[in-house]
Amino acid sequence: MAAYDAIIVGARCAGASLGMLLARRGRRVLVLDRARFPSDTISTHFLWPRTTAALARWGLLDALAATGCPPIETVTMHAGPVSLRGRPEAVDGTSVMYCPRRTVLDKLLVDAARAAGAEVREATLVREVIRDGDRVVGVRAVGAAGETIDVRASLVVGADGLNSSVAGMVGAAMARSHPSLTCGFYAYWSGVPVDGVEFFLREARDILVFPTHDGLTCLWVGRANGDWSAYRADVEATYLAGLDPSLLARVQRGRRETSFKGTHRLPNFYRDCAGPGWALVGDAAYHRDPLTGMGIGDAFLGAELLADAVHDGLAADLDSALAGYQEALREKTGAVFEYTLMSAALKDPQPQAALYRAIAAQPDMTQRLMNVLGGTASFRSLFNPRVIGALLRQPP
Ligand SMILES: Cc1cc2nc3c(=O)[nH]c(=O)nc-3n(C[C@H](O)[C@H](O)[C@H](O)COP(=O)(O)OP(=O)(O)OC[C@H]3O[C@@H](n4cnc5c(N)ncnc54)[C@H](O)[C@@H]3O)c2cc1C
Repeated sequence: MAAYDAIIVGARCAGASLGMLLARRGRRVLVLDRARFPSDTISTHFLWPRTTAALARWGLLDALAATGCPPIETVTMHAGPVSLRGRPEAVDGTSVMYCPRRTVLDKLLVDAARAAGAEVREATLVREVIRDGDRVVGVRAVGAAGETIDVRASLVVGADGLNSSVAGMVGAAMARSHPSLTCGFYAYWSGVPVDGVEFFLREARDILVFPTHDGLTCLWVGRANGDWSAYRADVEATYLAGLDPSLLARVQRGRRETSFKGTHRLPNFYRDCAGPGWALVGDAAYHRDPLTGMGIGDAFLGAELLADAVHDGLAADLDSALAGYQEALREKTGAVFEYTLMSAALKDPQPQAALYRAIAAQPDMTQRLMNVLGGTASFRSLFNPRVIGALLRQPP
């Protein structure tokens, strides 16, 4: 018998959550990460109600609130000529939104996985998968002291992010891919007054403003992906030039407390995420531009779907259960993927501007948009040709 039911490579939103969920069901789980926690990563970190509701289901939301993260109650989207403001309805009784630092959130998840009984080894780099024929049966890793570790399991899961090395080792094919559309930088500011969470969708730029721990504001300024070289050549000037004048005035009253972090590697893709003895979850399985703030919630969703599939599959037919997981993940995230592609096409905001203007003209549609983003209404209930066609036919 293999030493573990599952070895999970990566211990952040997808991996630690999956480890926790499987361990809570009595499964023997080993979670490996090359990082030591608390550890930061390149990511802003806004959580819609769809995401905080998962933390509430898992009994972790109170612990997050106790870290002093300010609750967020309103969402304002400045899109084209209009501003839509509201609050998504509660998902399973949870309507609060947060924007927790990843040093805090990821550590909370790692601790929860350990508390559930998962073995978590930090500072451990997975270098290879071990195979028996065409089946993956374990991993070879290098531990904190430089020692080689060979471990075996019924399943190896790559929860190792966008550039998943597990995906490379198992040869997971790209099922769908669309190049990076945006790029950007973010930094943390003190003394910047905020009004809940604010999104700005502007021609060739997007701006995200989030209140976070320690009274700081996380401020992302995105540009079209092709602008990366020019942006990188003068980050501060390009970043500040991207702000709307009223936001720039607020920012100039505050102080930048951190250096800028940025990226232009924001591809949109689905990888094949299940095969003999292996699976992928989180960004390793499916990645979309971050401007819609769905990545952490989708990682949590993937962890829940995969935990169900693995738990059931280990008792019956693991390969069929994993195939079902892949299908369910694509089915549940497909509309988010399409919406994200539409929003990230910053170069061509005209159709969006008309749509948002029509939504803003109807309070029930504004609330529906909030609920779609928050997680109580499906993307297809708003972003489908019939509803969009009717909205665009409304007199201005
Ligand atoms: C700029 C930016 C802004 C974002 N903003 C938001 C937002 O506001 N809201 C939101 O919901 N999402 C946001 N996201 C998306 C979010 O960050 C990701 O979707 C989320 O981090 C995915 O989690 P994950 O666990 O799948 O992968 P990751 O967080 O990437 O974790 C992967 C882990 O695997 C480990 N690892 C990798 N390879 C190995 C190996 N070989 N051996 C051992 N360990 C390994 C890494 O050390 C890492 O800890 C943003 C992303 C970016 C880039």
